[in-house]
Amino acid sequence: MTETRQNITITAPILIIEDDSGFAELIASTLRDEGLSSYCAGNGREALEWLDNSSTSLIILDYTLPDMTGASFIEQLKGLGDPPPFIMVTGRDDASLAVRMMKTGACDYLLKDTTFLDRLPTVVVRALHEAETRERLKQAELSLHQSEARLVRAQKIAGMGSWEWDIRSGEIYWSDELYRIFGLVPGTPEKISVEWVFAVINPADLPAFKKAIFKSVKNCQPFNIIYRIDSRRDGEIVVNSQGEVEPDENGKARLVSGTTLDITDRIKAESEIRQLINYDTLTGLPNRNLLHDRLKLAIAQSAREQHLMAVLILDLDRFKRINDTLGHRAGDKLLLAVAQRLSACVRDSDTLARLGGGEFVILQTNVGHEAANSTVAQKILAILAEPVYVDGHEIYTTGSIGIAVYPMDGEDGHALLKHADLAMYQAKEQDRNNVQFFSREMNIKVLERMMLENSMRKAIEREEFFLMYQPQVDARSGQIVGMEALLRWNHPDLGVLAPDKFIYLAEESGMIIPLGEWVIREACRQNKNWQEQGFPPLRVAVNLSGRQFSQQRLDEAVAAILMETGLEPEWLELELTESILMKNVEANIQLLRKLKEMGVSLSIDDFGTGYSSISYLKHFPISRLKIDRYFVRDITTNPDDAAIAEIIIAMAQALKLNVTAEGVETRAQMEFLSFHNCIEMQGYLFSRPLRADDFTQLMRDGVRI
Ligand code: C2E
Ligand code: MG
Ligand code: MG
Repeated sequence: MTETRQNITITAPILIIEDDSGFAELIASTLRDEGLSSYCAGNGREALEWLDNSSTSLIILDYTLPDMTGASFIEQLKGLGDPPPFIMVTGRDDASLAVRMMKTGACDYLLKDTTFLDRLPTVVVRALHEAETRERLKQAELSLHQSEARLVRAQKIAGMGSWEWDIRSGEIYWSDELYRIFGLVPGTPEKISVEWVFAVINPADLPAFKKAIFKSVKNCQPFNIIYRIDSRRDGEIVVNSQGEVEPDENGKARLVSGTTLDITDRIKAESEIRQLINYDTLTGLPNRNLLHDRLKLAIAQSAREQHLMAVLILDLDRFKRINDTLGHRAGDKLLLAVAQRLSACVRDSDTLARLGGGEFVILQTNVGHEAANSTVAQKILAILAEPVYVDGHEIYTTGSIGIAVYPMDGEDGHALLKHADLAMYQAKEQDRNNVQFFSREMNIKVLERMMLENSMRKAIEREEFFLMYQPQVDARSGQIVGMEALLRWNHPDLGVLAPDKFIYLAEESGMIIPLGEWVIREACRQNKNWQEQGFPPLRVAVNLSGRQFSQQRLDEAVAAILMETGLEPEWLELELTESILMKNVEANIQLLRKLKEMGVSLSIDDFGTGYSSISYLKHFPISRLKIDRYFVRDITTNPDDAAIAEIIIAMAQALKLNVTAEGVETRAQMEFLSFHNCIEMQGYLFSRPLRADDFTQLMRDGVRI
């Protein structure tokens, strides 16, 4: 790179094409004096060859070359791409030639006369200057073009258009992307007026739009507005325009310019998110989240206006079963139908929400007196009673409703919902398809129950459970022939609890499975222990609950316990009630057979209270019936009970089953039963249930009748 005295920078030498080598040398030395390097070529061909590998800042070209004219040299050069700037040198002073040469793109032309060398530096420097300026302009144009293209691309990606509004002339410029946002072909309409813009804005948003723009123009302040446009694209488009105002020398708005961003998708996504957060996807009803918000508002309003407010929780009875038997799709359709029916029974000012599963909540604000709520609840039960048709099935649903009323039943949303929930469970427990109001006693009962349930979970580990044993006696000889293991819970706070206080809870919570296994294991272990102590072997009877019996692989659990404790299966008897047996007859027969094959015997407890038909009885592999103690109680005074007891005994004999009478308390009862051929008995007459140690003593002493 060289720099001339006149501050010209050239990046490549000047190419001199001149066949007169002496003259060429003169030119070169003149340029050298100016600080410019050069290269000389004697003819066109040589020059072209040199240009193949080199570049030049400027060509000084003799018009008449030995192998071609200057014009044809330039032609050839143009064929290779953009030619460098050049100055023509000619020996003839010919005006038309000069014009032609300038037309070919020459920067200048010089006559070979006596002043040639004097004029040469000025002409060269000017040509170089012009070339440099041209090059800069070209680069500037290129980068402008590139940045414009980048802007267009960026606007397109962002869905953002830009605009300018010249306030005085009223002219509005729109970028191509802005046209696209408005659903228009870029450039049409060519002229955009303020009125035209107003016309495409959604009329509902127009006043706010105008207000924002005019205020901004008046005060020369920026603005930022969101509005809808009635786009010719697909429906409603939501945009966000931001603009700035440029003031003139007097401080008055001259130009407003800014961007407009298409935010339709964002708004849609935001509203979808809001929908997801606050609404149930299946029914479109408010969900738990929104319900809590509404509760808060409703409580505040009720407190302010001193009104009552009711929270109703409705749970569809046996919804899970419908889901399990007909499938989730049918369950969903049912929920939709119920949601529709419920919507029809609530006032617009009330909130109907779905909590999940078959559970709905209705918030009733401004209720006059509590009775009014029960009418709504009754109405709900009535409309639920109408069958729903789903996939060809006629489904009858019922619901249980619990109601809590603000402010009596709770001061905040959580308390109200919890109490309505308790009331709902109470309604379910009583007799489904019913309505219950929350009451304080209910709360206490439920709290107790919850505490009991929690402490039960820890009770097995803490060894709070124990078994008592009640002998079963041969009434003729007074011999102990067996015993029944009866569960007790030594509760740390409540003392010793009988099974009726906690078995139902264990069943509901599923605790009955581990607890029931513990009972079987403990009874087997104790029985084996007595045998090992040398007492004559006895049969131990263990009670099974329904949930335990329907448990998968009960037979395997029993087999494992027998293995573990080493008790022979013949010394274990399992007691089942009739209702358990009749629940799932086919599966039960299978399970009972397996147990029987193992050598375990089976008896039916509390016989006579259930509804088992004799024909079924034949199919069950059972070996014993236990006459319920309620028949035994009045056996000597009530002829009906006496008749039932007689029939049971006769039936057992006919079916070749053993029979044991329970709850024998008096000698008279014993004698009646003996007379009718019932030999085995159990009851306070012989012994109350005893702890293991006392039972050991009883076996030593024998029972006294
Ligand atoms: P159940 O199997 O009919 O047990 C007999 C119940 O009658 C026992 O009550 C026993 O104490 C009581 N009893 C015995 N002789 C007399 C008598 O002469 N007069 C009167 N009035 N009652 C007598 P308990 O121990 O309170 O058990 C109640 C019920 O709890 C049992 O009735 C049984 O169904 C259930 N149960 C007991 N232990 C268990 C167990 O380990 N698992 C399960 N699932 N249930 C059990
Ligand atoms: Mg029993
Ligand atoms: Mg019984």
